[in-house]
Amino acid sequence: MSRQQSEPEVVVVGSINVDLVLTVARHPAPGETLLGGGGHSTPGGKGANQAVAAALRGARTAMVGAVGDDAAAAVGLSLLDAAGVDLTRVARVPGPTGLAVVTLSETGENTIVVVPGANDAVDAALVESAADPVAAAAVLVLQGEVPLGASLAAARIADAAGRRIVLNAAPAAAVPEELLRLADPLVVNEHEAAIVLAGALGDDAVDPPATPEEATVLARRLRDAGARSVVVTLGGAGVVVAGPDGAWHLAARPVVAVDTVGAGDAFVGALAAGLARGAGMAEAAREAVAVAAYAVAHEGAQASYPGLDDQLP
Ligand code: ATP
Repeated sequence: MSRQQSEPEVVVVGSINVDLVLTVARHPAPGETLLGGGGHSTPGGKGANQAVAAALRGARTAMVGAVGDDAAAAVGLSLLDAAGVDLTRVARVPGPTGLAVVTLSETGENTIVVVPGANDAVDAALVESAADPVAAAAVLVLQGEVPLGASLAAARIADAAGRRIVLNAAPAAAVPEELLRLADPLVVNEHEAAIVLAGALGDDAVDPPATPEEATVLARRLRDAGARSVVVTLGGAGVVVAGPDGAWHLAARPVVAVDTVGAGDAFVGALAAGLARGAGMAEAAREAVAVAAYAVAHEGAQASYPGLDDQLP
């Protein structure tokens, strides 16, 4: 049986985008036309990024998502395909592929406009048509760039089959209690951690953690709010993990940061691959921290993710 036909170990239900990255001296004012310094199109979308990262770490990975019927679809799928991700559950729908337009200024500030396009077609019915792989895979990976109904449908299928759900609550938004209770782990950065906890408590006064110690407190509170386990990613300060056996801080691997775009997705994909392989949370998180550091030390998002033969920092 070929790799594509055998059952997946990781299924990602999520977004597939093309990122159009434009470099500018400064951001244009409304009504103004500027000449850009350069531009390129690159595959993106949190779901696709995470699927590529998981596949490159050796997990048989399938993607459930949607692209449009435009030329951008091929760009959006190119590195998923190259990584060996099973794309048979990716729908092609009329209209544009998801697009993120990023302007990067010389001062390092960026602006991002995301047009969901085909990602909006990822609904419960599409997920239910992919119920077999979702139920078969050891780990289901979810994020917040496709409609919530799709994530809920996938989580219910995976939970009924006794599978593990990695929930990356990004972009930042409150998470319904049903989904939060199935997250094992919930993966959030500092800002997302505060917003998810505020949503769970019905309290808008939760501050993002400023230190690993504060992140540990927040991670424990997110467990108290229902998540089975929690990982808070802290950029160059590493991650905090909280599970039934306690909470601990893992420092980031020291690297020269070249491009941090997609570091969080590298972490999530590698974590899912490790958990699917049967590693415990501590081992999977350690490997994911190293994979994310490798991604930070290389240009690009998906293009910066390491395979099994690459030397991790
Ligand atoms: P993004 O949205 O850019 O993907 P994020 O906010 O979701 O980022 P971060 O917390 O910034 O995620 O980064 C994820 C992980 O990547 C961190 O927990 C850390 O392990 C690793 N990482 C990020 N920045 C650095 C860095 N400068 N050096 C080493 N590792 C890093």
